[in-house]
Amino acid sequence: MTEKENAIVNVNSAKPFANWTEQQKKDYINQLDYSSESAARKNLVTVTVPIWAFENNTNGKKITINRKVTMNKLVADDFVDIMTEIYNDPEQFPIWYYADGKYYQAEGFTWKNIGGTQTPSQHACGVAVDINANWNPQYVVPAKSLFKIDSNGSVVRIFTEHGWYWGGEYRQNRLDWMHFSLTERGANSRI
Ligand SMILES: [Zn+2]
Repeated sequence: MTEKENAIVNVNSAKPFANWTEQQKKDYINQLDYSSESAARKNLVTVTVPIWAFENNTNGKKITINRKVTMNKLVADDFVDIMTEIYNDPEQFPIWYYADGKYYQAEGFTWKNIGGTQTPSQHACGVAVDINANWNPQYVVPAKSLFKIDSNGSVVRIFTEHGWYWGGEYRQNRLDWMHFSLTERGANSRI
């Protein structure tokens, strides 16, 4: 895995996927091999993005953290632009921060299959991120909280402006409030 550092400056996003169709996105991502974990890991890059971290050990203030997130190399630059725009937005949306110095609540790559299938999930392909998972569950509309993703808030607006999907807009029985991905979920869809 290679690693790329990114400064907290890039606000001029090109939004490369904003007008792509679902099929174009899938074809683009499917250039790469996801047939095994070792193959999938070759497709990844770890980027550093700024976030507003908030909770334990922040003395009640939002603090800037440079968070490393592992994503597919084909979407990594756009992901950095998205997270930088979210960071720079006046809302300063907070990401849960743990006192032990780890901050788990912005997670990209995970090697796992779509539930009940042998098909790699969007996370296994590195084209999805879960934000504030503890407060934004699957299958239900979350309770109001500081960490809840708001349908009218900056996080949803900026991801969708870049052509990414939000799991809070999936059909009722598939709600995945924490989840943002380049490709939409669908039956028999690999990514
Ligand atoms: Zn997810």
